[in-house]
Amino acid sequence: MPHDHHDHDHSELDDMTARVMALETLLAQKGLVDPAALDAVIETYETKVGPRNGAQVVARAWTNPEFRDWLERDATAAIGSMGFTGRQGEHLQAVFNTPDLHHMVVCTLCSCYPWSVLGLPPVWYKSAPYRARAVREPRAVLAEFGVTLPEGTKVRVWDSTAEMRYIVIPMRPAGTEGLDPEALADLVTRDSMIGTGLALTPEVAA
Ligand code: FE
Repeated sequence: MPHDHHDHDHSELDDMTARVMALETLLAQKGLVDPAALDAVIETYETKVGPRNGAQVVARAWTNPEFRDWLERDATAAIGSMGFTGRQGEHLQAVFNTPDLHHMVVCTLCSCYPWSVLGLPPVWYKSAPYRARAVREPRAVLAEFGVTLPEGTKVRVWDSTAEMRYIVIPMRPAGTEGLDPEALADLVTRDSMIGTGLALTPEVAA
């Protein structure tokens, strides 16, 4: 599959990044903002605020078979129905982990990422080593994230583009039968929706 990118998508982002960095430098120089505090805010958006959208999608897929089917057929529409919409021309595909198949997402050329459900991409997602190695040696990368899959589980790596972005629907952990969607969403980490992690068990999450 060709890695088809809209140049404007990325140049817009690069321009925005440059402007934000210039603003941050100026504010720090004037003593108006503490760079460490700013990092903490960004960390919050990377790991909490943004990915909570995706976690709600996953929890709903786990508990509502009709929604799960819709998500599989047309993730853009199913996710849009929850109020999570992307930029124009951005399509989402949900890929479902099973005992036989584990999905993992990368953007080999840059940093295409499902912003509407995961928020800001983590620094490692944009790094050259992740982008190169996710495709070449996904199991080694997974091991570094602390994920060891059974030998019989195949790994499929999805290469994101400006037009098509992916959210991994991790497997529902055992022992969660009695949990409601809100409690289930707390088990869904950002990394589990990129495929570099698994959903937490209730014991680990507690
Ligand atoms: Fe990209």
